[in-house]
Amino acid sequence: MTRTLITGGLVITASDELHVDVLVDGGRVVALATPGSHGWTADTVIDATGKYVIPGGVDAHTHMEMPFGGTYAADTFETGTRAAAWGGTTTIVDFAIQSMGRSPREGLDAWHAKADGNCAIDYGFHMILSDVNESSLKEMDRLVAEGITSFKLFMAYPGVFYSDDGQILRAMQRASGNGGLIMMHAENGIAIDVLVEQALAEGRTDPRYHGDVRKVALEAEATHRAVQLARVAGAPLYVVHVSADEAVAEIASARHKGLPVFGETCPQYLFLSTDNLAEPDFEGAKYVCSTPLRPREHQEALWRGLRNNELQVVSTDHCPFCFSGQKELGRGDFSKIPNGMPGVENRLDLLHQAVVDGHISRRRWIEIACASPARMFGLYPKKGTIAPGADADIVVYDPGAEQTISAETHHMNVDYSAYEGKKVTGRVETVLSRGVPVIKDRAYVGHAGHGTYLPRGLSQYL
Ligand SMILES: [Zn+2]
Repeated sequence: MTRTLITGGLVITASDELHVDVLVDGGRVVALATPGSHGWTADTVIDATGKYVIPGGVDAHTHMEMPFGGTYAADTFETGTRAAAWGGTTTIVDFAIQSMGRSPREGLDAWHAKADGNCAIDYGFHMILSDVNESSLKEMDRLVAEGITSFKLFMAYPGVFYSDDGQILRAMQRASGNGGLIMMHAENGIAIDVLVEQALAEGRTDPRYHGDVRKVALEAEATHRAVQLARVAGAPLYVVHVSADEAVAEIASARHKGLPVFGETCPQYLFLSTDNLAEPDFEGAKYVCSTPLRPREHQEALWRGLRNNELQVVSTDHCPFCFSGQKELGRGDFSKIPNGMPGVENRLDLLHQAVVDGHISRRRWIEIACASPARMFGLYPKKGTIAPGADADIVVYDPGAEQTISAETHHMNVDYSAYEGKKVTGRVETVLSRGVPVIKDRAYVGHAGHGTYLPRGLSQYL
């Protein structure tokens, strides 16, 4: 194993900003020391003068190759993890899916078959439970013991992923016993389906109506209901992709009561809005995801939630579908547009732009993108920080470089960018995964199969 020395940079973690050199050996960080105070030698020296040295990003919400509405998310584990690395993310936690009538184990095996040997960076899995019954509840215990320590349930998508309140309560009770963390897609899908049917019957078929029917009130109501069910079960709750101010308020109110309730949001809710969904010529389809984009006024509540720790994590919900041939399945019927957006490559840069814009501090940037997701999902301090003993997942970040986000230059396997033309300040320069270069001076030097599977511990927030 080679020794690598990263010199002259500003090391930023969730807790500190230090001008120190970082010594990497055997794939791990072994020591930090003030420049000039040590006599370290190394096989490779990376000069990070004038740059930030930050932990690799942890994206706890991705959907590579996910089946949806008769098609598949366009990024494979190979292309998606390569794009993640380009954007400074060195760990993803993707979602294995239990299909209706099948066991969770079958779903997990299927996701291992897609991912194993194909990833450029390390990866773990959450389990989506679509069929909560006696045997899947028992299997939850075994999965937790093996390192699948979080389970996603859906209050949306009746007939596909949907669980009713009884099933949700049972899964939460099980989680309260086995230490698992329940992740919730909180939208009232039964009510939404009524509004979808009515909208289509009245000829409201454009992408913008996707945002119209998925009402803020139906996200807030489901969030409230999820909190109360978790409270009754004595279980912790992590609400995924929070998009609306009233949903943030539900989470804040639960936390003020001392309940172990956590919230995640995504860059699309922080930077995009219903204005995008209303773009003409069906272009709005590029921005169809659920929960939906909201009117711009909601963004301030999300930023405030991130600053106040009412929201703890920013993940991408990366689930790309090409505009051509995939999003187009929903021309004339917005309900047939595959739900999801690309973003795994853009998260660290967009959140750095939020630092530049004054929404969050530098340390909070690292906390919400690296440290908190690692803690939330049982990967800390192996992932999410730069400290002796941690995996040497390290990004050398140039905070002054300017770039324009575009599908022309991105590495995600999708034919559009949700942030096309957006200028941001800051750019990934070099990325190490367990001490091995994956991106070196803006060139990809990694390979499929470098990434290893990560069995996870219990959430470290509980
Ligand atoms: Zn998702």
